[in-house]
Amino acid sequence: MADDEFTLIYRYFSSMGRGEAVDLSVGDDCAILSLQPGERMATSVDTLVAGTHFPIDAFPEDLAWRAVCVAASDLAAMGAEPRAMTLALTLPEVDEYWLAAFSQGLAGVCHLYQLPLVGGDTTRGPLTISIQVMGALPTGKALLRAGAKVGDQLLVSGTVGDGAAALAFFGNQWQPPPEQAEYLYQRFYRPTPRLDLGKSLLDKATAAIDVSDGLVADAGHIAAASGLALQIDPSLLPLSQALAAHPDQQVVRQWALTGGDDYELCFTLPAGAPSPKGCTVIGEAIVGMGVHCGLDIDSAGGYRHF
Ligand code: ADP
Ligand code: MG
Repeated sequence: MADDEFTLIYRYFSSMGRGEAVDLSVGDDCAILSLQPGERMATSVDTLVAGTHFPIDAFPEDLAWRAVCVAASDLAAMGAEPRAMTLALTLPEVDEYWLAAFSQGLAGVCHLYQLPLVGGDTTRGPLTISIQVMGALPTGKALLRAGAKVGDQLLVSGTVGDGAAALAFFGNQWQPPPEQAEYLYQRFYRPTPRLDLGKSLLDKATAAIDVSDGLVADAGHIAAASGLALQIDPSLLPLSQALAAHPDQQVVRQWALTGGDDYELCFTLPAGAPSPKGCTVIGEAIVGMGVHCGLDIDSAGGYRHF
């Protein structure tokens, strides 16, 4: 990076680093975080590459939000409580306007989800944003992909298919009404990591995952890790108003089952357990392998014909 790398870091990335668990933040060779007795650390990293994961001219505030929400969703999927994050940022050039907007977005999202920015790395190259998140789990507890039992209910939080619908909208394949267009834009760039739900499921769910690659594909990871099959009833899938109003419900069903980018939690609960608020039973765990939904879906989770 240029000579003024340290000035840039100081100006844009040094003021969001305070938090209860943060002993030392941006400025030294490492950050230092403290864990309470009886806690373990959960950590995960996600990378967004310009042109692959977002359009090159996407708004920098939105990119900051999306990068952090996507990473925080992995903490939610484990039931972990956010403690801190780091940012590895690769920039093609020093664009102060872009950096100011990006760091403003970062400050908003890090405050909302209590993820102080405690360190990172800044390099020159094609625009790439990596966020590493760190969270705390009570010793001996975690929501894993393994653990579902035959007879368990399968649930999903929120609504599914919005991420795929947003991409179709951005790609001009579909023009939703204005208020739904705004909703889908926000759902894509500011997905809600289900952190409170994840934490509340620690003593309840037998397995969990976040929906990043598509419901069928992600449920497939629970099925494989738990050594059983998951049966999904497509008529039970929770849809947003934006999708319920779409003229072609077959397309909607495909978005809901195989589109990614929803960042909802998909999880299993023992039979008879009450559904948490905002969550919907969509199927059950049965003997076998894979995910069944009564439709023609290939093993990768995508429809064969569209
Ligand atoms: P080092 O050479 O020791 O790895 P760097 O020069 O990369 O340190 O970074 C100096 C300090 O600034 C470190 O504390 C690092 O964590 C922090 N930092 C660098 N880039 C970023 C960034 N994009 N966001 C937050 N902190 C950063
Ligand atoms: Mg470094």
